[in-house]
Order: sequence, then structure tokens, then C-alpha cells
Amino acid sequence: MELNADFRSDTLTRPTPAMLDAMHAARTGDDVFAEDPTTEAFQQRCADLFGHEAALFCPSGTMTNQIAINVHVRPGDEVICDRMAHIYNYEGGGIARNSGASVRLLHGDHGRFSWEDAAAEINPADSHYARTSLVCIEDTCNRGGGAVWDVKEIQTIREGCDAAGLPLHLDGARCWNAMVARAGNTLPAAADWKAYGQLFDSISVCFSKGLGAPVGSVLIGSKAFIAEAHRSRKVFGGGMRQIGVLTAACNHALDHELPRLQEDHIRAKQIGDVLAGLSQVTSVDPVETNIVIFEIASGLTAAEFVEAATRDGIHCFAFGPQRVRLVVHRDLNQGQIDATCSALTQSVLNR
Ligand SMILES: *Cc1c(COP(=O)(O)O)cnc(C)c1O
Repeated sequence: MELNADFRSDTLTRPTPAMLDAMHAARTGDDVFAEDPTTEAFQQRCADLFGHEAALFCPSGTMTNQIAINVHVRPGDEVICDRMAHIYNYEGGGIARNSGASVRLLHGDHGRFSWEDAAAEINPADSHYARTSLVCIEDTCNRGGGAVWDVKEIQTIREGCDAAGLPLHLDGARCWNAMVARAGNTLPAAADWKAYGQLFDSISVCFSKGLGAPVGSVLIGSKAFIAEAHRSRKVFGGGMRQIGVLTAACNHALDHELPRLQEDHIRAKQIGDVLAGLSQVTSVDPVETNIVIFEIASGLTAAEFVEAATRDGIHCFAFGPQRVRLVVHRDLNQGQIDATCSALTQSVLNR
């Protein structure tokens, strides 16, 4: 059989029959009136999981991040994040466009930085400068090759933010992967989720990636924060009605997809090991979760590599002139992973 394995993104995952059943069975109401019982219960479940008071369902991770920024900053303020951050690179300049704020970029290690790095970029409290008003981290960092943060490092950043009076936002689109990886590719204990959640003032999580829901992200924080977020969501056009059909899918994902996420990490490692042995690949970023980013030797461009891989039935993205990204997800089975590994070894890319 011809190989057709799509590694372009974990957003390609489609709802399973069991997930569609859960959506079909959902009780619904008008969520703008806070009358959708499935959504009310799901939001509370998300808040409880991370040890926070409240949560708000949104259509996308971009919206949860942009709402968080909108609540935390005022026009003219400045946000500190890594140069690899999704909020900076892939949200259409939304920090400036939606909230009138500027960005100070850090040069961390695969998207991870230290408190010293961040502290050095906080502006003086002098009217010449933009007011620094938010620090944002991304765990796992997508552009950083799915890099997982050390919780002790985040703890230090939390303490620094407290001392500096700055809120800390987590872009946790793939924090599921980070939590599972840190627990040694098992499901973390309830106390671990809560301890992690406590490190942040606001948390954005996605259900439409490795967890396989068709739509959905959730913003988590205090009651006061979520009340403000509610206003921003309405203004951004994100107020929705009978969304129990969507939140039922996300709720199902927590029960049935989260426990299998470690499979993706093991398979990504398998592919990373094969790539590291290819003559045309000069280096592979450490494979910590479900993302594999690697560097193509000069003489071949990332675009040419992607083209050749596509002819072999392996679909992936050029992530820079010499960089390629593969993302492993639930809709690729072990047979496809094994076939991908042999195809890569036998391909023209290994001459
Ligand atoms: C995918 C992603 C988001 C949100 O993306 P949407 O497509 O808007 O849901 C946010 N942050 C990171 C790190 C992501 O990978």
C-alpha cells in the first residue's frame, strides 16, 4: 500500500466516532446567557484541573491568547516573550492590533528563557519607556521543537514576576504534552496539574491539536480575570450560543485522548532517531514531545526536502530555509510511523 502520512500538524486530527457520539449526546443552551450546561460544567472542570477559579471556552488558541493579553495590558504597554513565541509570530500581529501593545523579544533556548533574561528587559518606571506589563511563556514551545520547560525555571520566573508586580501568562496550547513528558510519559497526578497551574495568572490551552477535538481552546484564571475576558471575547466576536456540542468534544478528549498522548512522544522520538541518521540531515532538535524539527544540509533546501518527502507520501512543512517540522498525532498509526521511517531511510534524501 502506498504511504500517505500527514505530519504537517497535530491540528489535522479528526473527531473519533466516540467523540462524535459525545457531541451528539450533549445537552445545550445559550452560552452567551451562561445557560449551556455542558459548557458550564466543562469550564469549571478546566479551572479545577489547574487549581484556578474560572475558565472561558473560545473558538481558538489565538483568541484565548489575544484575550489574555487584552485583559493584562493597556495600549502603549509592552509584553515580554521569547522570539519563538506563537503570540508574536503566528497571531497576525494581534498584540499590536488588538491591544495596542509592543513586544520585547528574548533569545532563549528553544523558546525557554530564565528570569534573568526577562528581568533585563523590564523597562524602568519612567515615562520615556513603554510600561512593561506582562510576561508570557509557551510550554511546549512549538517553534522550539516542542521543547518542555523545567518547572523550577517557571517557579523562578513566577517569583520574579511577583517581585516585579507583573502577571505571567502561559500559552499552554500543548501544555498537555509538556505535563505528560515531564511525568516521564505518563499521566501526571492531580496535584501536579494544580501546582503547575498555580504558577500562572492566566493559562490558554488547546483541545484541537493532539487531543483531537474539532474546535476549542480554554482560557483559565481568577473569577475577576475571566469576567474581564468575557467582555473581550464578546468584543472579539467570540460569544457563541449552543456550544455544548463543542465542549462535549473537548471534555471527551480530556477523558479519552489525554491518556494516550505519550504514544505520540514515543513515535516522534522514533522518527527523530531515523532522521538523525540521514546523510542530508545535519541536526535534529531534541525530541521531547510530539514535534520533530531538523536542519537540512546545505546543497538541499528545506523546500526541496519537503517536495521529495511528499513524493514518498510523507507530508511535512518547511519551517525555515533549512529547517523542516514534522508533527506526530493520533491520526497516524504505528504502521504509518514504521513505513515513514523506512521510506526516509530508503529515499533519495539519504544519498
Ligand atoms: C496552535 C497554537 C496556538 C493557537 O492556535 P489556533 O490555531 O488559533 O488555535 C497558540 N499557541 C501555540 C503554541 C500553538 O501551537
